[in-house]
Amino acid sequence: MSYKFKITKISESGVSKLDFNNIPFGKVFTDHMFVADYIDGQWTNFEIKPIAPIPTHPGNMAWHYGQAIFEGMKATVDAARNPLLFRPEMHAVRFNKSASRMSMPEIPNDLFVQAVHNIVHMEKDWIPAQAGSALYIRPFMYATDETIGVKASETYKFIIFTMPVGPYYTNPVKLLAQDKYVRAVIGGVGEAKTAGNYAASLLPATMAKKEGYDQVMWLDGVHKKYVQEIGTMNIFFVINDEILTPNLDGAILAGITRDSMIQLFKSEGFKVTERPITIDELIEAGKNGSLTEAFGSGTAAVIAPASHIKHNDEVVELDMNNRKYSSWAFDTINGLKNRTVADKFNWIVPAEPYQE
Ligand SMILES: *Cc1c(COP(=O)(O)O)cnc(C)c1O
Repeated sequence: MSYKFKITKISESGVSKLDFNNIPFGKVFTDHMFVADYIDGQWTNFEIKPIAPIPTHPGNMAWHYGQAIFEGMKATVDAARNPLLFRPEMHAVRFNKSASRMSMPEIPNDLFVQAVHNIVHMEKDWIPAQAGSALYIRPFMYATDETIGVKASETYKFIIFTMPVGPYYTNPVKLLAQDKYVRAVIGGVGEAKTAGNYAASLLPATMAKKEGYDQVMWLDGVHKKYVQEIGTMNIFFVINDEILTPNLDGAILAGITRDSMIQLFKSEGFKVTERPITIDELIEAGKNGSLTEAFGSGTAAVIAPASHIKHNDEVVELDMNNRKYSSWAFDTINGLKNRTVADKFNWIVPAEPYQE
């Protein structure tokens, strides 16, 4: 931790106005944000200051050509209200992979991580303590050149803001696999957390909702046969007591919850296999009863069990009383994040305050 930040504190924190038992998801922002600029080939102007709009020129390249990437992470507290981060370094590494794919400058991992530590420590009074609640952390970067013309911008802004979020208790999700739209192809930008991927997913998601389904189950872009992921989560299935998840093929987003789940399941002695999984195989396993669970994994919802999978005219319904693996996964990740489950992989890192 060695970067110098200019710190300007808000005169009065908004935290006293927050009802911790009733936090609307994605609508409440904390007091401060971290901001840095990329100018003349280097990162500069490191600052933590009160959160406020940033005036932007209409010719800003990000609006037109979409150089915009982000991360999603969570901070939690232990029983003594110490602020904790979950695998922050891994988020820095993934952020830089997204940056490199989108022709954006990388930000030094230690600068990314220090900024996350310091802003979270500063906003620690905003971290809800209830199991499953957290401080959601949103680091992002976008192009700032005021130029029309398709090329990589030469200047960028990197910002981190944070938001308290309540437990994201999802009802079991209904998944719709369809052949018309795809999320990503190998060689495309599916592996990057870049803004346009989410814009592209909105129309298919709306169409799925009209059919009564909560999330699109994305199939591969070439064969429309292999399951990739759901909505904005990675996906796991349980068939004959074997936990299956699609292997990272270059089109799937490499989820940090996914990676954590694979390691945790293995360390518990559960059988986990990463391999291509076809939609036909899933429907078949659903019909003959060997498919017992399906669940999404991601930072926001942590684990989201699925109740239905639809493809063409076939619908598989899962027994929601059988959640052996998804419940274990949910309790283990949340327990780790509140330090009520032993952290044998050393994933939990106490957030450190800014030091001059
Ligand atoms: C962020 C994201 C995930 C989940 O990643 P986590 O690191 O577990 O939060 C999965 N799929 C997509 C498309 C995502 O954007």
